[in-house]
Amino acid sequence: MNQFDVLSVFLSAGIALGVLVRDYTSLSQLEKQYFGFPGEILMRMLKLVILPLIVSSMITGVAALDSEVSGRIGLRAVVYYLSTTIIAVILGIVLVTTIKPGVSQSADNIERAGSTPNVSTVDTLLDLVRNMFPENLVQACFQQYKTQRKEIEPSKTNISTSNMTTFPPFTTIISTNLTKDYKIVGSYSDGINVLGLIVFCVTFGLVIGKMGERGRILLEFFDALNEATMRLVQIIMCYMPVGILFLIAAKIMEVDDWEIFRKMGLYMVTVLSGLAIHSVIFLPLIYFVFVRKNPFTFTLGMAQALLTALMISSSSATLPVTFRCAEENNRIDKRITRFVLPVGATINMDGTALYEAVASIFIAQLNNYDLDAGQIVTISITATVASIGAAGVPNAGLVTMVIVLTAVGLPASDVTLIVAVDWLLDRFRTMINVLGDAYGAGIVQKLSKRELERMDLISDVDAANPF
Ligand code: ASP
Repeated sequence: MNQFDVLSVFLSAGIALGVLVRDYTSLSQLEKQYFGFPGEILMRMLKLVILPLIVSSMITGVAALDSEVSGRIGLRAVVYYLSTTIIAVILGIVLVTTIKPGVSQSADNIERAGSTPNVSTVDTLLDLVRNMFPENLVQACFQQYKTQRKEIEPSKTNISTSNMTTFPPFTTIISTNLTKDYKIVGSYSDGINVLGLIVFCVTFGLVIGKMGERGRILLEFFDALNEATMRLVQIIMCYMPVGILFLIAAKIMEVDDWEIFRKMGLYMVTVLSGLAIHSVIFLPLIYFVFVRKNPFTFTLGMAQALLTALMISSSSATLPVTFRCAEENNRIDKRITRFVLPVGATINMDGTALYEAVASIFIAQLNNYDLDAGQIVTISITATVASIGAAGVPNAGLVTMVIVLTAVGLPASDVTLIVAVDWLLDRFRTMINVLGDAYGAGIVQKLSKRELERMDLISDVDAANPF
């Protein structure tokens, strides 16, 4: 049995356990929380290694390449990220305007779960740029920006007051009253300003790379840190099946309104079929065109990371597993993964972009709001920007969708119409986000083959003639 099979067995056991405990016991809210404790520990362990992993991989990744080569690799990655995100958005728009999931239902049939304040697109964009330049490095590693988080008790989840908070790397609106899932966003918001760290690490890596012999000491330090972190990841992976079992069981026990899935059926089908088409047709096709290898073997190599993403709804927390799968199973060069994967986990979110486009047009349909061509273009652009801005944490896409809605004049508070099913859709879109990053690394590696070979030659010469 390989690790993927083990995870699948524990996942199925988790679902069964969740159903059993929910149907045959009457646990209190607090007891349910205790039940999910081993899952919570898994999330904490995964989040624990994000910081050393991103810092060590980005710095060594950039420093190991010369600035011209890293510039070229970076450019290829960005072109890939943008083009696949735009393809995903267009696919979402085509599907939602064809299937029209919101046309037959009125917004009143689907309950609004609360209210959300408006937010200006300009301000959110400025915040995105602001977060790229943290004023304090230590703060960027662990402190939340201007948070006014309000702790709420489970019993208060239906009270309709909302509050505003920001969470890196984007200003976001969190109505903590809406559903229990919104609380998850709140609890992750005290994380890392990943975008700010990436900008810092890329610059720092470039500087170290140019420092010659003196820079080598630092490079060796971060390289060793990277190796040590990956060994920690190996240990965490041993605990992963148990953590996943309890994570999924606790989630199944928590969901009490399964009826909502029937009401929102067509909308969910639209999002899920878009994600399926993107991951089974478009991404593999693009990979095949550039790499000329079987894309499905590649997907299989990433299976463990995909399953993890499905379970924990966070591309950032999946990053350690994504690294392992990409490097060990798909044999992607570390010089590429160290650069392409952390950036991808932060800004390349095809699944989120597709979802944002579908969800905003679905909301327009529910409100009998006719969108003209200009507004559809606005949705495409803002959905792309909102996906870039969404952090790789659970429900981030739902929150940044406020930008898309506001941009076309829809009430931002209408995100509350889709919030009840977001916990499920989030899992699937996170999977596609992770898959998109991995394919990106494979494609960039292929396109950068010549540069990598030249660097190998140079390092061979250096090793043969150290003086
Ligand atoms: N949960 C997603 C991720 O981590 C972001 C989103 O909410 O769409 O990639």
